[in-house]
Amino acid sequence: MPEKRDYYEVLGVEKGASEDEIKKAYRKVAKKYHPDLNPGDKEAEAKFKEVGEAYEVLSDPGKRARYDQFGHAGVDPSYGGGAGGAGAYGAGGFGFDDLGDIFDSFFGGGFGGFGGGGGGSRNPNGPVRGGDLRSSIVLSFLEAAKGCVKQLKISRLETCKTCSGSGAKNPDAIQTCPDCHGSGQVRVTQRTPFGVINSTRTCSKCSGKGKIISDPCQACNGLGRVRVNKTIEVNIPAGIDDGQTFAVSGQGDMGVNGGPAGNLNVTVSVRPDPIFDRDGFDVWCEIPVTFTQAVFGDEVVVPTIDGKVKYNIHEGTQPGTTFRLKNKGIPLLGGRGRGDQYVKVTIEVPKNLSAKQKELLKEFEGASSDKNYEKRKGFFDKLKDAWEGKS
Ligand SMILES: [Zn+2]
Ligand SMILES: [Zn+2]
Repeated sequence: MPEKRDYYEVLGVEKGASEDEIKKAYRKVAKKYHPDLNPGDKEAEAKFKEVGEAYEVLSDPGKRARYDQFGHAGVDPSYGGGAGGAGAYGAGGFGFDDLGDIFDSFFGGGFGGFGGGGGGSRNPNGPVRGGDLRSSIVLSFLEAAKGCVKQLKISRLETCKTCSGSGAKNPDAIQTCPDCHGSGQVRVTQRTPFGVINSTRTCSKCSGKGKIISDPCQACNGLGRVRVNKTIEVNIPAGIDDGQTFAVSGQGDMGVNGGPAGNLNVTVSVRPDPIFDRDGFDVWCEIPVTFTQAVFGDEVVVPTIDGKVKYNIHEGTQPGTTFRLKNKGIPLLGGRGRGDQYVKVTIEVPKNLSAKQKELLKEFEGASSDKNYEKRKGFFDKLKDAWEGKS
């Protein structure tokens, strides 16, 4: 057998890497070498096993400590690679209708689009786009993965219904500005030692609008817009992830002088799920099986974001075996297609055995030989060689 590579090197992490870093690195490398993605590639298969073995050790604090201290000899390498997992899947080609058209854009932080309302308008009577609003929402894992409709409470500026946005109590209350006579500009004459200089500036009485309101609308105090609390329905796009923001077009503040409304930018927090974990658009989960199921193989029920599916685990499935359910992951945000689901098999060692169960297992153990435990045999052979200086 070739010399084993350092487990940290296999996963591409530093020696002091955190559990989370190790988990992330494992997923990345396991996906790269997964047999389903590299059919018939023996080297990838070997790498995949190596990666699984490295993770099996580094993800277990006890084993990791022994590995750190004693290297490969310190840990039991009885880890089964996942090659057995390649095989029958549920039907692929999962169609998914994207809901993306409802939204202008999706982005992970930072707001694109127009500058906020108000800026850059030279004409004081010209249309001004309403300001953007921010909001946040907490979603469950499944709500974020599959998309959903949520009620959201917002507070935004809307055009005053009483005055239709004019700010005046009635049409007669809008008068031509006496200072600038409606032009919005006033002439300024300055006498200097060099002569008389004429210039114009914005009329301060009407702020350049050319008109003044003698009797303001009481509903909006002459501002033309009022703050309104309302509950709106928001379509959450399928595939959105924790920390991402999406824009709901036209649900920000309403514009002024016929300008468009701003956007409502909603930032999403996703609650952790007890079963599913997410890595990009891939879903990960673990399923515990009994050791007899692993020995004989069995049909197991696997949860997916679409519900339960059945999967046949092979005879002799080893702990850590990871199989892939193609296209059972999370819909790609704003696009077509979906990620995959990876399912890691864990084997639960039975506890609280009855006397009869113990008896049966003792009988089983008595009838077992090295033939049943290839990896264990290989490990002790190597250890023996090491002790006798043969390697
Ligand atoms: Zn009003
Ligand atoms: Zn004026």
